[in-house]
Amino acid sequence: SRVGVDVDATVGVLAPLPFSTSVLVLVVTSGIWLMVVDLPLGLVALLLIPCLLLLNVGYQKRIDVFFDRAQHELGELSEAVHESFEGVLVVKVFGAEDRETTRLSTISGRLRDARIRAVYARSTFEALLDFVPASFNVLLILIGAHRVSAGAMTLGELSSFIYLFTLLIFPLRIIGYVLSEVPHSASGWKRIAAILDEPLDGRREPGVVRGGDVVLQVRNCSYSFPGSRVAAVSGASIDLKVGEIVAIVGRTGSGKSTLLRLAGGLLSPTSGEVQWTESPPAFVFQEAFLLSGTIIDNVALGADVDMDRVHAALVTADALDFVENLSEGASTVVGERGVSLSGGQRQRIALARALYKNPYLLLIDDTTSALDPTTEQNIIRGLKTTDGMSCLIVASRPSTVAVADRVAYLEQGVIRDVGTHDELLSRSAEYRLLIESYESDRKSNG
Ligand code: ADP
Ligand code: MG
Repeated sequence: SRVGVDVDATVGVLAPLPFSTSVLVLVVTSGIWLMVVDLPLGLVALLLIPCLLLLNVGYQKRIDVFFDRAQHELGELSEAVHESFEGVLVVKVFGAEDRETTRLSTISGRLRDARIRAVYARSTFEALLDFVPASFNVLLILIGAHRVSAGAMTLGELSSFIYLFTLLIFPLRIIGYVLSEVPHSASGWKRIAAILDEPLDGRREPGVVRGGDVVLQVRNCSYSFPGSRVAAVSGASIDLKVGEIVAIVGRTGSGKSTLLRLAGGLLSPTSGEVQWTESPPAFVFQEAFLLSGTIIDNVALGADVDMDRVHAALVTADALDFVENLSEGASTVVGERGVSLSGGQRQRIALARALYKNPYLLLIDDTTSALDPTTEQNIIRGLKTTDGMSCLIVASRPSTVAVADRVAYLEQGVIRDVGTHDELLSRSAEYRLLIESYESDRKSNG
């Protein structure tokens, strides 16, 4: 939203530019013509141009500050507005409507003040822009009358001179207008330039594995979040074969989500390499996001809708039952202004979206653990029987982990062990402890 406002301000100056360029040609030719008619008078008339330029320089110096501030406040305001839209639930839960109203009106008050000051300075400038050429006009008539009476020029020459000069005033006004837009435009540009100057993160495209039955290869990958001293993932290596389901298991904060993002190409490893066989894999985030639209829109996501595939995706995501119970089935509008779905239902729609394109590789971040165990079992079974699809899944239910072909056990960003669930249970005490804590957690939660 900030950039939109800034771009508008920056290009605002360009609108009258084509016109004022042709005006410039007019000014130059009539300037020459004025001097041909009467040199001394012509020189006085042309003094107007440096006068206007000086006026403008003085104006720019004063107005820059005001426009910079107004532009800054406008950015603050749109940020605050977005924030309070997105955080509307938090605001309501804490009964903070009044506080939010005060906050917004303080910012918009500051914006108003800054703008009023800018407009005030600008209106003085514009009045001067009218006043200065008009007083030049008077001056020229006075000097001209003097020269006519001294016999230096004829009355006809004087009147054609004054007429020409009057013709010049409007074009000069246009140039003045362009000049008066410059500070506004410059302050917009300063803010855009600050964004453009930000260094890009050295994003590397994942490579391609060829041949064999490996679909995903993570090789010695490390990742540290900017500004963080400890690596979230370090030296992780893992392969995924065609049709294989691998579970990532570890305590909260052990780097599971980070590892999955690295594997999906959503983060570029600080060192190491990620390779896929084909295009980027499908990804299901921990937080399901639904667009306002029908279930079909949300599943097919703008692609050509193939109802058979929507159906198949809903079946695999174990979402068909509840979708069919909605008032208009898969055509029910959900999301922002539609039927609101439960967290688990949203996750199943998000999963169906990922399945819709028949991905060869699916990455799932702890999506299924918020579902009830039966639904989760149905989904995992569905994924397991989907031909040729490989899954890397962050899981925290022993039952899910048990169906995975292999398990990668993560501790503080390091893959400690990879093997089948049973193998890990028998050879890793830490793994056993973690799985047991999941079990007892489930029992105590009923
Ligand atoms: P998990 O998914 O296993 O709970 P994460 O991969 O989300 O763990 O996080 C691994 C570590 O990286 C944690 O210590 C976490 O605090 C840190 N981390 C996660 N996201 C960010 C971030 N955006 N900026 C800085 N640190 C982060
Ligand atoms: Mg996570």
